[in-house]
Amino acid sequence: MAALIVACEPVKESFSFDEVTYSPNQTVFKLFAPSDATCQVVVGEDTLQMEQLADTIWTATAKGNQKGKTYEFVVNGQSSPGVFAKAVTVNGQKGVIVDMEETNPKGWEADKPVHRPFNDIIVYEMHHRDFSIAKEDAKYPGKYLALTELWAIDHLKELGVNAVHILPSYDYGSVDETRLNEPQYNWGYDPVNYNVPEGGYSTDPYNPMTRITEFKQMVQALHQAGIAVILDVVYNHTYNIDNSNFQKTYPDYYYRKTAEGYYSNGSGCGNETASEKPMMRKFMIESVKYWVNEYHIDGFRFDLMGVHDIETMNAIRAELNKIDPAIFMYGEGWSAGGCAIPNELLGMKANIRQMPGIAAFSDDMRDALRGPFSDDTKGAFLAGIPGMEESLKAGIAGMVEHPQVDYTKVNYSDEPYALEPTQMMAYVSCHDDMCLTDRLRSSIPGIKEDELIKLDLLAQTAVFTSQGVPFMLSGEELLRDKKGVHNSYESPDSINQINWEHKQTYSQVFNYYKNLIGMRKNHPAFHLGDAELVRKHLEFLDTDDDCVVAYMLKNHAGGDEWNDIIVILNANRDAKMVNIPKGRYQVVCCDEQINENGLGEVNSDRVLVDPQSALIIHN
Ligand code: CA
Repeated sequence: MAALIVACEPVKESFSFDEVTYSPNQTVFKLFAPSDATCQVVVGEDTLQMEQLADTIWTATAKGNQKGKTYEFVVNGQSSPGVFAKAVTVNGQKGVIVDMEETNPKGWEADKPVHRPFNDIIVYEMHHRDFSIAKEDAKYPGKYLALTELWAIDHLKELGVNAVHILPSYDYGSVDETRLNEPQYNWGYDPVNYNVPEGGYSTDPYNPMTRITEFKQMVQALHQAGIAVILDVVYNHTYNIDNSNFQKTYPDYYYRKTAEGYYSNGSGCGNETASEKPMMRKFMIESVKYWVNEYHIDGFRFDLMGVHDIETMNAIRAELNKIDPAIFMYGEGWSAGGCAIPNELLGMKANIRQMPGIAAFSDDMRDALRGPFSDDTKGAFLAGIPGMEESLKAGIAGMVEHPQVDYTKVNYSDEPYALEPTQMMAYVSCHDDMCLTDRLRSSIPGIKEDELIKLDLLAQTAVFTSQGVPFMLSGEELLRDKKGVHNSYESPDSINQINWEHKQTYSQVFNYYKNLIGMRKNHPAFHLGDAELVRKHLEFLDTDDDCVVAYMLKNHAGGDEWNDIIVILNANRDAKMVNIPKGRYQVVCCDEQINENGLGEVNSDRVLVDPQSALIIHN
C-alpha cells in the first residue's frame, strides 16, 4: 500500500482534551474542531454558541451550577459527546456533567497502585462476563462488582496471578445498554467513548455515576488483594468512521488515508487512527494518563500496537514514566492489514528494541507450541511435530540474544527482537483464536482427555518457566473450552462462560497451575528480568530427540536458593532419555504434579522424561 506520511508538528502543549471543566458556579467547555466549523454545545435544554479560542480550539461557558446536566457538542450539525467525555448517558450518547470527586467509593483516597518489577508480573486475561456469568453464587454475575466478591478474589489469589488484564472496559458500542435483561455478549473491541467505563458491566447504565463508582470499587478490591489492573486499550480504530466521536468533531483528522485518498484499514475493522498526528497522539497520551490518575490503572495492553507509530508509543512510555515507571505496557506487535505509514515507523514486534519498557506478545512462542494462527487444524511442538524447538528455546530465553539460540531457525523472527526478556509476553492462548483445549483437540485428531491434560500442563510449564512475562487466558486453569469456536467475540455465554464446576472436576489441573505459578514466584531463576543474566545463567542442554527442549538455570540464577534447575519439556508420545550434568537432584515437577518440597530424587547423569510431560529437577 502506498504510504502517506503526515508531517508531525509538535504537540500543542497548551491544549488538553479536558472538554468539560466543572465548578459549582460555571462549567467551561472546550473542543478541538476545524477552524471553519460551526460549533455549539447543548447543555440540558440550552444551546450555547462556541467561540474560537484559537485556530482549532473552541470554547463556551455555562454559568451557574450545571452538575447532572447532559451536554452535546454540535459541529456542523453533527452531535456527539465530544472525544473525551468522562461521564455519559446510557449507550454513551450524551455527555454528563459530573463532579468526579462524588464518584469515589469509600476509602478511594487510600487506594494505591499495585506495581511490581515487570519480571514479577503474572497476567490473567479476563472478560467480565466469561469470568462470573455462570458462577452460581455470584451476586453480580457479568458485572464489575463481581470482582469485588470474595469468591472471585479468593480464586485469583489462590491461583497466584498478580495482574488481571480486563478485556475492553471503556464504553463500547456492540452491547445495547438498554437491553441488559437480555443475554448479549461482545468482547468490546469497538470503542465509543474511550474515557468512560462500559455501561453494560455496571448495575445501572442509566445512572452516569454508577459505572464510574463500580469500576473504582473493582479496582479498589483488586488492589487490596495485591492484584494489578491492566486495561485493554483500543486506540487503533473506531467501530466505524461516520458515527465516531472523532469524525463528528473533526472530520478526517484522526484517521489515516492512503495516497489514493481512501481510508486505510490497518486494523482490519474498516479504518485506522493516525497516532502520528499531534492531536491523536496527544489524545492517546491524555487518555492513558486519565485512566491512571482517575481510576488508578496499573498497566495497559495496546490492541494492534503495530498500527500505532513508534514515536507515539515511546511518548506514552515517557509520560507514564513521569507518573511511575512501573506502569506496565505491552501490546500486539502487529496490525491486521497494511497501514498507511511504513512498517519501520510502526509499533511492530520487529521494532520493539526501539521501544524500551514496552513488551510485545510472542506469537513465535505461542505458535511453536500450539501451531500456526492461520490453521487451527495444524499442530506444532505439543502435537509432537518436529521443527519448532528453536522457536520454543527463543521463547524460553525471552526472545533476547542468546549464544545457543539460532534465530534464523525461529518461526517468525530472524533475529532476537527483545532487548530485555520483559519485552516479551509469553503465552500459548488468549481470547483470540481457540483456547488451549480446543486447539489441542483440533490439531491432534482423536486426542484423549488424559493426553489433553498432559499437553495443556506441558504448554503452560513452558510459558511459566519462560524468561518473558507470563500471560494466561482466564479459565485455562479450569480446563476451559469454547466448544471449538475460533472467534468467540460475539458468541453466547454458553460458549464463552467459565464452568466453575471444573474446579472440582479438574482439581488436578488447577493445582498444577497454582503450583507452577507459585514455583515461578518463589524462584527468581525463572524470571531473571535481565538479558545479561539470562545469557549468563540459562544454558540449553543437548538432546537426542525431536520435540524435546531441555535447559538449565545454573549457579543460583538471580540469587535463587536452588543451585542448578533443570527443566525438560517432552512433547513425544513416548518417554525420552536426556543427558544431564551428573549429580544428585530433587524432583519438583513430574507426573503432572508440582511440589517445591520435592517429589523424589535423581542421582544420575541422565533422566527419563515421561511422555507429553515436563520434568523439573534441581540440586
Ligand atoms: Ca456501551
